[in-house]
Amino acid sequence: MQLIWLRSDLRIDDNSALSAASQRGPTVALWLASPGQWQAHDDAACKVDFWLRNLRRLRQSLEALNIPLLVRQVDTWDQAPAAVLEVCRKHAIEAVHWNDEYGINEQRRDTATRTLLENAGIRAHSYLDQLFFRPGTLLTRGGDYFQVFSQFKKVCLEHLHRSLPTLAPRVQRQAPLDIASDPIPQHIEGFAKPARALSDHWPAGEGEAQARLARFIDETVEDYQHLRDLPAEPGTSQLSPYLAAGVISPRQCLHAALAGNRGEFDSGNGGTQTWVNELLWREFYKHILTGYPQVSRHRAFRAQTEALPWRDAPEDLKAWQEGRTGFPIIDAAMRQLLHTGWMHNRLRMVVAMFLSKNLLIDWRLGERHFMRHLIDGDLAANNGGWQWSASTGTDAVPYFRIFNPVSQSRRFDPQGRFIHHWLPELRGLDEKLIHEPAKAGDLFADNHYLNPIVDLKSSRQRALEAFKGLPRRQDQRAMN
Ligand code: FAD
Repeated sequence: MQLIWLRSDLRIDDNSALSAASQRGPTVALWLASPGQWQAHDDAACKVDFWLRNLRRLRQSLEALNIPLLVRQVDTWDQAPAAVLEVCRKHAIEAVHWNDEYGINEQRRDTATRTLLENAGIRAHSYLDQLFFRPGTLLTRGGDYFQVFSQFKKVCLEHLHRSLPTLAPRVQRQAPLDIASDPIPQHIEGFAKPARALSDHWPAGEGEAQARLARFIDETVEDYQHLRDLPAEPGTSQLSPYLAAGVISPRQCLHAALAGNRGEFDSGNGGTQTWVNELLWREFYKHILTGYPQVSRHRAFRAQTEALPWRDAPEDLKAWQEGRTGFPIIDAAMRQLLHTGWMHNRLRMVVAMFLSKNLLIDWRLGERHFMRHLIDGDLAANNGGWQWSASTGTDAVPYFRIFNPVSQSRRFDPQGRFIHHWLPELRGLDEKLIHEPAKAGDLFADNHYLNPIVDLKSSRQRALEAFKGLPRRQDQRAMN
């Protein structure tokens, strides 16, 4: 008997480990709830709920293939190896299969599980599934992990030109086993059930993910490079929660994009090329996580930026978290996050830069708030995005290129449609004043919208000085 241990790969199609297990023989599936670990990782309640909803769908699809789905609960991953071994003993499992996950704790868990299983005479097989390339197989000439995205991307495209990652063989229906599936918990203690509107916004299941992908490729990808920066438009795929939970695979995304572009991924339609580029950013940050494990421990990629004089400003942090900064684009974006568990990419950059530069608050506090609310929360992408915005990361934005939230608002939400949607209290302001209500003065006196919590010009200067005051890299090395 084979065991597939499901983690962030909640799908039947193109699932490397599931496909390999079922080719070897009768298969049982296992999923482990680990609430203590999720709390330690700041996983959002809406994300945990999304997993449970997807598991319910997956259980049905697995049952149609006669593959029972077992559910076990541990607190933290320290207890995972023993829990897996116990299932193996109970069901006379010969081999356990899983898809690789990246991050220090994930790797530690898997190494410990492998050791325990092998000592008990049970084989453990792991597979590349979340990525196109195994971390460590794409290196610079000097043998290091890439730190610059454009160089990494060039090498990825060379490899993809030579051979495309193939989809895993379809799982065949097996003869029924005398093992019953476990019920999927309705909810997990410590993680509140999200509002109905949020789960309606993100329906569960592979069918939904595939439908989104097909719709995006049919209707939007061609204009992606023009639409992707406009938060009022449905101009991006909104697949990130499905990719993060593995309800869809990056290979499926790549194949669909290519099929819509006559098989070309770095020529032909510009929208498709830009979208493939985003899939490669996703890839890049997971390679960074593996190659530079300090980021997994929330350390700055650029060690010298650890010396930045971050402000201890809990009131400002709270105003940012709750969407009460007095900057409409920031407040609208933060409310989008709280209500939908998702935020548009352009706005993630704008609010992250506002927190880390204008408010000079440690990016880690923003990273954590995002993780606690994002339905697509992913350590590698979230850390990468935050360190990019805070200029502490690899290939990050230069510290002196600080986005002005008002100009960003005028440029990317010119009519204020996005702002109006999330800040109905600003109705009545025209497309000129909506970006900067403070300018409306008396015209707007009876409205309760707040005054800006920070002056953009002086706070920009404060951030520039903080960065200029950092020890340079050589001095830092001498200090260490
Ligand atoms: P699309 O534009 O349709 O892109 C397709 C897919 O490519 C996405 O679903 C995602 O998997 C991947 N992708 C796109 N942009 C990026 C990027 N810059 N970095 C890595 N992968 C990318 N993405 C997450 O999946 N989880 C996070 O926790 C996360 N946190 C972020 C935090 C900050 C501060 C920033 C600036 C970005 C973050 N991103 C994160 C990246 C990006 O914002 C989201 O992936 C994107 O907004 C998801 O929307 P979409 O599915 O419509 O993307």
